[in-house]
Amino acid sequence: MADFYDILGISKSASASEIKKAYRKKAIEFHPDKNPGDATAEENFKKAAEAYETLSDPQKKARYDQLGHQAYTSGGAGGFGGGAGGFGGMDMDDIFSQFGDIFGGGGFSGFSGFGGGGGRRRVKGKDLRIRVSLTLEEAALGVEKKVKVKRKKQAPGVTYKTCSTCNGSGQVTRIQNTILGRMQTSAPCNTCGGAGQMMDKKPAGADAQGLIIDEETVSIKIPAGVETDMRLKVGGKGNEAPGDGISGDLLVDIEVKAHDNLQREGNNLHYDLYISVPEAVLGTSKEIQTVTGKVRIPIEAGIQSGKILRLRGKGMPSINSYGNGDLLVHVNVWTPRDLTREQKEFFESMMTDSHFDPAPEKGDKSFFEKVKDMFS
Ligand SMILES: [Zn+2]
Repeated sequence: MADFYDILGISKSASASEIKKAYRKKAIEFHPDKNPGDATAEENFKKAAEAYETLSDPQKKARYDQLGHQAYTSGGAGGFGGGAGGFGGMDMDDIFSQFGDIFGGGGFSGFSGFGGGGGRRRVKGKDLRIRVSLTLEEAALGVEKKVKVKRKKQAPGVTYKTCSTCNGSGQVTRIQNTILGRMQTSAPCNTCGGAGQMMDKKPAGADAQGLIIDEETVSIKIPAGVETDMRLKVGGKGNEAPGDGISGDLLVDIEVKAHDNLQREGNNLHYDLYISVPEAVLGTSKEIQTVTGKVRIPIEAGIQSGKILRLRGKGMPSINSYGNGDLLVHVNVWTPRDLTREQKEFFESMMTDSHFDPAPEKGDKSFFEKVKDMFS
């Protein structure tokens, strides 16, 4: 499999400007406008853009060099909406938005979207990211969280007008002489940065894009079954864009806090139950904490330490399908340490009683067999 350096035809020691130059060349060569209907060219165009996206970013490049191509491109923490920091691949919109950087552009700097390629694109405001911390119970039941988000919004009174350089199309057509011959390319309009619009009236306090920062309470519906590092997206609650652009999204990273008594393992939960020697000998009933409240379970007489009781459906709900995991109750028999003289004498008298000799039967499985059962 060709790595990003092969794709751009450069060596690993290539400088930033060499990387940029190499990408520019590939982008022109495989540009869809120049290769209409050619799927291979489009594939190469995308590959070059992906390679450039990583190699042009010093942090991403360092990570890529460290991990190697295979590990880097298959990264991502999986689950639900893509994991944190993974490699997402690019679509054509992403690629054209990168062109502002490569082929020059200006105007509305700091926009995440640039025009170019096929027709005018509406600019998109920046995505915002927050982290939301949940208890295990909240993760089990689902919850609605209200968070305060500082978003950029269009300032009251701001107006935008159509860009006169590109007449609102967001792009200008250039004829370029390349080694491949004369070529017509569309590039983002330098005046408006591809937005097709420019700020007309700037209210006091607004930034160069006519935006102000506003704190807004956003309600986030968190579905039952989420796990740490899952990411939710609240559409349109990122920064607003200038003009008639579309708002970015609010990306919500989930963190589920550790529970005092319950340990999570996928959709199953584990609970350590301690019972006394008399309780183990005589049997009893015990209250067990679950994510939906307490339940009382019977403990049969003669139960062995290490026994795992499975409470079906009392685990975590599955976010991708129906049904719940189980709650696994690990039975531990607590051996007393400080005995009175009478108690000591009692146990001493039992030492010679063959009733107390261990005599495991087939049903009293070893720890390893039980673990094997649990995952089968
Ligand atoms: Zn323009």
